[in-house]
Amino acid sequence: MRSLESFPRVSLGVFPTPVQKLENISRLLHTNVYVKRDDLSGLGLGGNKVRKLEFLLADAKEKGAELVFTTGGAQSNHAMLTAAAAGKLGMKAILILKKRGVTACKGNQLLEKLMGTEVRFVDTDDYADIYAEMDRVGKELGLPYYKIPCGGSNALGSLGYVSCARELRDQGFRPDYLICAEGSGGTMAGLSLGAKLFLPGTKVFGMMVDTDPFDRITPALMREAAALLEAEVQITEEDFHLRDMCGPGYAIASREGNAAVSLMAEQEGLFLDPVYTGKAFAGLLAMAGEGAFKPEDKVLFLHSGGAGGLFAVDMNA
Ligand SMILES: *Cc1c(COP(=O)(O)O)cnc(C)c1O
Repeated sequence: MRSLESFPRVSLGVFPTPVQKLENISRLLHTNVYVKRDDLSGLGLGGNKVRKLEFLLADAKEKGAELVFTTGGAQSNHAMLTAAAAGKLGMKAILILKKRGVTACKGNQLLEKLMGTEVRFVDTDDYADIYAEMDRVGKELGLPYYKIPCGGSNALGSLGYVSCARELRDQGFRPDYLICAEGSGGTMAGLSLGAKLFLPGTKVFGMMVDTDPFDRITPALMREAAALLEAEVQITEEDFHLRDMCGPGYAIASREGNAAVSLMAEQEGLFLDPVYTGKAFAGLLAMAGEGAFKPEDKVLFLHSGGAGGLFAVDMNA
């Protein structure tokens, strides 16, 4: 297997991120709940995209790119962090965003304005159109450019979360359960593959917050990432676990998600967001309610960030 160090990587964040026990929530749920603080990953307002961007933007630099494109909804945390990272590395970023969600100068749109990021909205839900627009603009500007997919979720990006699993091992923390949000798939795929390689016995659960076919997307990304790493592993159905927590739709608040946001804020003074981490934590609460966890289990929740969107997204559910 190739080592993670053999891939080009730029330093954008502050790692390792802390693992903390949630004492009050552990007491309420009669098990041991911990949080991996990737909301403190050290760039912008933190979040999971920083780990992916360390690999993706290193690849962009190595390929001589001066301009990076990415996409997502209007309040994409990933797009905002891509702009922040590109600026730090001396590259120009152009965000080609879907006209979906809050386009007003709030939340991540506000942060992009502060950074002077070029944002272009396109009125389509079809990513093929968006990638074609990137090529059109890239050629028009005549700069060497690099396209990062929605959420940074390709095999290279997901190495960021293979690396997070190894970081947990190096922190001496092997959870029985590891729970994350799944929105475009790279985080879940990286953690699931990383757990298989570095955290034997840890079951990874992806709480789906969108309606894409993650039962196919997750193992496909895991296999591609394993191929990049030249890891001799067989990916099977046992290597990843999914649960539908989308509720009324992607980026539309759910009652369960909002209740989870409130519980975390009241009990632990930590802020989740209604689009990703609130719904993911609601999935953890639902599993606890079903008796999935034993009193001696260690259940680790990945706090993947989302603070930017928290100040824009409507929490009425
Ligand atoms: C993007 C994002 C996720 C989902 O991660 P994916 O790798 O896209 O599945 C989770 N939480 C937050 C806050 C995000 O911005």
